[in-house]
Amino acid sequence: MIDGQLVDASDGGTSISRNPATKGILAEFAEATAADVDSAVAAARRAFEAGVWRAMSNDERGRVLWRVAELLERHQDELATMETLDQGQPLAMSREVNVPMAAQVFRYYAGWATKIEGKVSAVSAPNALHYTRREPVGVCALITPWNMPLAIAAWKIAPALAAGNTVVVKPAEQTPFTTVRLVQLCLEAGVPPGVVNVLTGGPDVGQALVAHTDVDKVSFTGSTEVGQQIGAVSAQTNLKKVSLELGGKAPSIITPEADIDAAVVGNLQGALFNTGQACGAYTRFFVHRTKADEFVSKISDAARSITIGPGMLEGNDLGPLISGEHLQRVTGYIDSGVEAGAELVLDGRLPKGDHLDEGWYLGPTVFTGVSDDMAIAQEEIFGPVLSIMTYDDIDEAVVRANDSRFGLAAVVWTRDLVVAHTLTERLRAGTVFVNQLPLIDPAGCWGGIGMSGWGREMGSFAIDEFTETKGVWIRTG
Ligand code: ADP
Repeated sequence: MIDGQLVDASDGGTSISRNPATKGILAEFAEATAADVDSAVAAARRAFEAGVWRAMSNDERGRVLWRVAELLERHQDELATMETLDQGQPLAMSREVNVPMAAQVFRYYAGWATKIEGKVSAVSAPNALHYTRREPVGVCALITPWNMPLAIAAWKIAPALAAGNTVVVKPAEQTPFTTVRLVQLCLEAGVPPGVVNVLTGGPDVGQALVAHTDVDKVSFTGSTEVGQQIGAVSAQTNLKKVSLELGGKAPSIITPEADIDAAVVGNLQGALFNTGQACGAYTRFFVHRTKADEFVSKISDAARSITIGPGMLEGNDLGPLISGEHLQRVTGYIDSGVEAGAELVLDGRLPKGDHLDEGWYLGPTVFTGVSDDMAIAQEEIFGPVLSIMTYDDIDEAVVRANDSRFGLAAVVWTRDLVVAHTLTERLRAGTVFVNQLPLIDPAGCWGGIGMSGWGREMGSFAIDEFTETKGVWIRTG
C-alpha cells in the first residue's frame, strides 16, 4: 500500500503466508523490493512535507483516529478471523483481546492529538521568552513481529499519527494480513493517502527501511539480535531515532505469603498466553522452598488440563506455534533442558489430540530442578515452557531474578504490602506486576531495559518517542 494504492511489488514478486494450524498456504502477498521501499518512503516524505496530516487541525486528526477505532470494532469478526488463520491464536483471543485492544489504542491516541503541548521555560537570560514546541519526527518506519500483529501495529501507528508523523509499516512476513487491512481502514477513516504506507515482505525490506537516509525514525518490536543490528545501522546511516522493544525472560517470584491458588492461575496464563509467544511471558519461576511442592503440583495439574487445538475451533486455550522452524527451536530448548539435567514434570512435545498432527503444536511443558545457568533459564524460548526454581530467602530471589541480560517484565506474588513495594523497586525490569497477568494497556508504559530495548511504548511515553522538542527564543526587550 503505497500512497493510498494497493500495488504489486515492482518486480511482481510474491511470498506466501501459511496457516500454522494446517501448515497449508493461506494466501500470497507482494514481496516488496528495494524500489518499493524507495517509493513508500518517498510517498511518506511527500505527505509529510505537504502537511496534509500534520497541518490538519488537531481536533480533526483526533476525529480521524477515533474513526479508525470505530472501523476496527465494526470489522472485529473479520479481523479476528484473519488474525487467527494467519497467526494461529485462539479466536476468543483475537476477537476479545487483540482486535479490541487495537481499537482501544486508536481511541486513546485520538485523545492525545489535542494534548501534545510544549511549555514555557524558566530561562535566566534577560528580556527573553523561551518555550518548547513538540513536533512530529517526520517519516517513521514501523517494523513489527508476528506474535500479535494487529495490536502491535496499532501501538505504533496510532501514537505516530497522533503526533503528526507519516509512516511506512513493515509487518512480519509470517503475518502481514491484518496490518494491510488496518491500513485500508485508516484510509477509509480519512487518513490522507501517503500518510500510512505498508510494505509486505521479509527481513530485506526491514533492512532497507532501516538503512534509508530519508527515514527519520524506526520503531521496532522483535528479536534482540535484529534490534542490535537496527541500532547499529541507524547510527551508521543518518542517526535516525530508534525505539526497540525486544526480547524478555520475565521472572516470577512466588513468596511464602502468596495466595498459591491465585499464583497458579495467574502464572499459567502469564506463561501460556499466545502459546508463550509473548515477550512479557512469565518464564522463570522462583518459588519459596516451603511452597515449591504445592506450586509445582498445582501448576502441572492445571497445565495438563489446558486444551490445545486450532484457534478457529471454539474452546481451545492454546493454538499452534507460528511455524515449523519455530517449533523446532522451542523443542530444541526442551531437549537442552533435559540434557542439562532439569527434570521434566510435564512434557509438551508431540501432544496428542484431534487435529494436532495437522499443525505446529506444542503442549505446556514444565521443568523443575532448573539452575540459573541453563539455557532454559537464560534465553528467550518464546514457547509454552515453564522453568521452576526454588529459593530460600527473598534477597537471594531478587539477585537471581535480576541475573538476566533482559529486563522487560517481572512479577511478584505476595500478600505482604512491604514485600510488594520493596520488590517493585528492586527488580530490574521496565514493568513490574504484582499479583497480576502481564497486562498491557494504552495508558501504561511498556518497554524494557538492558537487552530488552530502548524507549517505552504506550501512554505519553509513545508520544515522546514520536515527537521532537524544539526550543523557541523570543526577544522581548
Ligand atoms: P522473530 O525472531 O520473532 O521472527 P525478528 O526480529 O526476526 O523476530 O523479526 C521481527 C521483524 O523484523 C519482522 O518484521 C522481520 O521481517 C523484521 N526484520 C528481520 N530482520 C531485520 C533486519 N535485519 N532489519 C530490519 N528488520 C528486520
